[in-house]
Amino acid sequence: MSAPNTTPQANIPEVDEAEILADIKEWAGIESPSKDGIAVNRVVDVAESAMETLGMEITRRPGRDGFGDCVIARSPWGGDGPGILIMAHLDTVHPHGTIDEALKLEERDGYLYGPGVYDMKGGACLGVAALRQFVRAGRETPLPVTFLFTPDEEVGSPTSRDLIEELGQANKYVLVLEPGRDGNKVVTARKGCARYVIRAHGRPSHAGMRHQDGVSAILESARQIAKIEVLTDYETGVTANVGLWTGGSGANVRPALAEVEVDIRLPDDASAEATCAFMDSLSPVDPEVRLEIEGGLNRPPYPKTDAIAALHEQAEALALEIGMESLDDTATGGFSDGNFTAALGIPTLDGLGVDGDGAHTEEERLLIASIKPRTQLIMRLLETLD
Ligand SMILES: [Zn+2]
Repeated sequence: MSAPNTTPQANIPEVDEAEILADIKEWAGIESPSKDGIAVNRVVDVAESAMETLGMEITRRPGRDGFGDCVIARSPWGGDGPGILIMAHLDTVHPHGTIDEALKLEERDGYLYGPGVYDMKGGACLGVAALRQFVRAGRETPLPVTFLFTPDEEVGSPTSRDLIEELGQANKYVLVLEPGRDGNKVVTARKGCARYVIRAHGRPSHAGMRHQDGVSAILESARQIAKIEVLTDYETGVTANVGLWTGGSGANVRPALAEVEVDIRLPDDASAEATCAFMDSLSPVDPEVRLEIEGGLNRPPYPKTDAIAALHEQAEALALEIGMESLDDTATGGFSDGNFTAALGIPTLDGLGVDGDGAHTEEERLLIASIKPRTQLIMRLLETLD
């Protein structure tokens, strides 16, 4: 252990790691599964009050369709012009009670375990801490900063997408505090995602006495699944997954209804267009079956543009100054709200949150040692972007 540095260097901001860790524990201690808007709003309350304390100008937009609220917090400095949008979602994939048994909130071997610590309450708290440091020091960033907290990212942001796009368009840069990637990486490209539900309507009959009168919706479903799964091409990066299949009413009944849910990941606009056109054109192999196709592109692809590459280069230079060994970038098949702003052409840098592992599992954990440098990096970005 080295002695505490009492003479901070100009380009290495001071950060209080213990304070941030306490924040993360508080936020993660409030379970917030996406579909329980009341539970999510308990964390939204905490985020809102943290922003209020910092003197940010708050707008809280009530939730819709059972989801939680959105909070927009804008810095009182920097004027009305376009600035920096910081995004964090406060919902998690973990159901209520996860924290009691399966994934207790606890420190172990340099990690903090707990639901949402990594994806992404940890990142949200780094963003709050970065702003707090500026406010405490009585300093302003060159550009105005808008912090957006959302309640429904893990289910595709059905009620916050419009706000994300609106605020994205009103800003010059977007920083997304989703988790960092293996080996201190940030994210500069994400695949798009299309989701479909395909229902096959057949005709029921007694499987013993009247087999010939029935038309099997399950058989038709199987044929459609075969057409969809072969869209997968690891070379181009398109992947198709039929992840859910339900149908039928009993072993002795020819099945009248079958339903599949499909998730397709798409690396760029061209593959998205071609694949969605293919999905919309699916037709039944058995003309007696009716197919119902619902869905489409849910998240547009987030390709690495020149502007995004430049943003990453800037972040990398700042990271080296802070003392990080590297800040490589990576592309991922997982999507985020960054897809929405990147698709609009707004330079978007993602994966700026905490390092760690085990997102969406009962091994979710954040690397405590990443709290300090990553907060410093966010601060340096906020004070150098102009
Ligand atoms: Zn996330």
